[in-house]
Amino acid sequence: MPCYRCGARQTDPVRGASPWKRGVRAEAQVLICPACQRSHDLELDTCAACGATTLICRLGEIECRSCGHVRNAEENLSKEPPLPADLAAEVEAALSRVLGRS
Ligand SMILES: [Zn+2]
Ligand SMILES: [Zn+2]
Repeated sequence: MPCYRCGARQTDPVRGASPWKRGVRAEAQVLICPACQRSHDLELDTCAACGATTLICRLGEIECRSCGHVRNAEENLSKEPPLPADLAAEVEAALSRVLGRS
């Protein structure tokens, strides 16, 4: 997989970890080459829980390597911000707890 931004091809490191970074952008797994990692306009998807860009995209879900938060990949496809729906559900759940409903 080439760098999503500049199209550079990944070369296998002689030893040690690859300097290439994995991320998720618009619900798709992308690779970022070391040069492009210095750019500030990467527009990577961020974790809804901790804000990290160290995400991995699996079948139907996106997992945060930083905090382990997993969300469904389809959540973002509607172009709606994902937070309000989650927030509404959380508020509802919290209200239910407060009101003693389960
Ligand atoms: Zn690049
Ligand atoms: Zn996270």
